[in-house]
Amino acid sequence: MTGDDDYQGDGTRVVNAGRRREWTQGIVNTPVWRASTILYDDVAHLRDSGGRDTHHRLFYGRRGTPTQWTLADALTQLEPGAEATFLYPSGVAAIAAALLSVLSPGDELLLVDSAYDPTRNLAAGLLKRLGITTRLYDPLIGAGIADLIGEHTRAIFLESPGSLSFEVQDIPAIVAVAKARGLTTILDNTWATPLLFPAIARGIDLSMMACTKYVVGHSDAMLGSVTAAPSHWKALRDTSFQLGQVASPDDAWLGSRGLRTMAVRLKQHGESALRIAQWLAAQAGVGLVLHPALPGCPGHALFARDFKGAAGLFAIALDGGDEASRAAFIDRLDLFGIGYSWGGFESLAIPIDPNDHRSVGRRDYSGPLVRLQIGLEDADDLIADLDRGLAAFRAAKG
Ligand SMILES: *Cc1c(COP(=O)(O)O)cnc(C)c1O
Repeated sequence: MTGDDDYQGDGTRVVNAGRRREWTQGIVNTPVWRASTILYDDVAHLRDSGGRDTHHRLFYGRRGTPTQWTLADALTQLEPGAEATFLYPSGVAAIAAALLSVLSPGDELLLVDSAYDPTRNLAAGLLKRLGITTRLYDPLIGAGIADLIGEHTRAIFLESPGSLSFEVQDIPAIVAVAKARGLTTILDNTWATPLLFPAIARGIDLSMMACTKYVVGHSDAMLGSVTAAPSHWKALRDTSFQLGQVASPDDAWLGSRGLRTMAVRLKQHGESALRIAQWLAAQAGVGLVLHPALPGCPGHALFARDFKGAAGLFAIALDGGDEASRAAFIDRLDLFGIGYSWGGFESLAIPIDPNDHRSVGRRDYSGPLVRLQIGLEDADDLIADLDRGLAAFRAAKG
């Protein structure tokens, strides 16, 4: 709403961002404007609308309505230095558009080995079929990434902390190398969101989020976004138009509704998760806690240097045990649902095996791993639940 978003607190920014009077018409949360056809007054009006940039102008449903523009504009305002944001029907669709806006046949992509598995599948599948090669790099490589850059390298894809294994990357060092070598950087910023890591301000070119997670925040809609630096907006927009991408107004409306409480939710997720992670680190049956704010997490010092805080998703490695005793732990939990995704108000636990999805960044763990999404239940209740789970694990382990 104001141009001073760099100087306002997170709560104020997420409440007000994108709520332009001409889009809300005075209604607090911009309503759902559903549309395919937009009617013009006359032929001259139609010609005028079609011939120009349709950004924030009603043109045809695929180019969005004030419902999508509100959320896109809000996400742009949360990333100081960004030009604009494109919304997608899922996080994976956002990743695909970001990559395709940059890469052409013959190019090489440097992809972090700890990337979300569907990102790896996209590189090994569609990108490969298009003649784009991928080189996987260790998430802890830092400035050493310079040694991997060849004459065809075009872009570097980062995700920090890494999916499942939570390594924190040296983003400033990698951005510095990329800028010196003229490469595009794409960051999967789903975990931190711009509130905990303002990616564009830190030099990232394309900052992507699975809005399905913290932005929607209620586990009831799929949505993705890419926020672009000025130098990368036009290519992102053109590619996304060509791919026919459009997020539904209903889902964008849920995204805007979720966004307004994201700062307070994220704060609570972060506080509870840190407390629970610290408690877990001291329990019998837990071998390692992979939480970026704790010293056992690879890249912890970088996290302390670069991030404004921690989110609510982390993992533990059990102390020994096997598939059956890990299942005994998870199955004993009452307050943690067993399911994919995260970022909603409810706690979740799933078994994870990061080394099954790693090529160059395999690590040794003390036992099988469990990923925990800490929801908005009371931390004391979650701790009591985990305590019962660990007792079940120890009993099953024998
Ligand atoms: C969930 C997730 C995605 C994909 O988002 P969808 O909306 O499920 O397609 C991408 N990156 C990360 C890190 C995720 O956790």
